[in-house]
Amino acid sequence: MKINHFLFIGSVVLLTASCNQSENTENTPINDKKNPSAYSAGAVLWQQHAAEYEALCYQAYNLGERRLDELVDTNKTYEKPLAVVMDIDETVLDNSSYNATLIKNELLYSKKSWMEWTAMQSADLVPGALEFIQYAKSKNVEVIFISNRMEAELNDTYQNVIDLGIDTVSKSNYYLKSATSNKDERRANVADKYEVILFFGDNLGDFNGVFDDTTVIERKKHVKNFRPLFGDKLIILPNPMYGEWEGALYNHDFSATPEFRDSLRMNALNIYSIGK
Ligand SMILES: [Mg+2]
Repeated sequence: MKINHFLFIGSVVLLTASCNQSENTENTPINDKKNPSAYSAGAVLWQQHAAEYEALCYQAYNLGERRLDELVDTNKTYEKPLAVVMDIDETVLDNSSYNATLIKNELLYSKKSWMEWTAMQSADLVPGALEFIQYAKSKNVEVIFISNRMEAELNDTYQNVIDLGIDTVSKSNYYLKSATSNKDERRANVADKYEVILFFGDNLGDFNGVFDDTTVIERKKHVKNFRPLFGDKLIILPNPMYGEWEGALYNHDFSATPEFRDSLRMNALNIYSIGK
């Protein structure tokens, strides 16, 4: 699919964040100032061009298939139908073209440009996602999407996913965002109906709400506590472009100016000390 990178050049209006991307709270573009998205060019280039990115995605989904085999083929009986829960953005759909366009146009994320992007139905596939979803289907395991795309984005998201060949996930299996970004309630709703054997996500909030809206230190502490579950029940995909990890650097305050956020990033860099 060819993407018109220039469709969403123009005014950017402040609205509430609909996904885990950093929300711009000031209208952009930043004319005589530094490109506010330039700092993420390395991350976007890596996702788009590093074969290592693809290898990591394949690694995640290969592991997912292996775990699926172990969990489905055991003699264990389950009381409910089996399901895997998957995030969508940077887990199934690759939105790096959107982020690349922000950089080129010297814009920060905004809900308006994001909604224009999702309406284009032009996201690509994360490597390995299609094959994993097909594999799950072949094992009679339901695939459930829990995403912080808004419910208003359902039809476009569904069509984008269908166009990429994923035609086994019904619309009723999409649990999109209606109110809160926290996914705990939606996970609980899914767990009422299914035995969820695996979770896939690029953001730790895709696994548990304890990772949301907290500090870098707390997030790392929780990761230590969850350590036995990674590669076991929780499968994480790489996303260097955006996420709660970045929000944590700003104390989740996206009303801060791009300049202040830049200073927070610079201050967060751990540098070496001579003589240490
Ligand atoms: Mg995601």
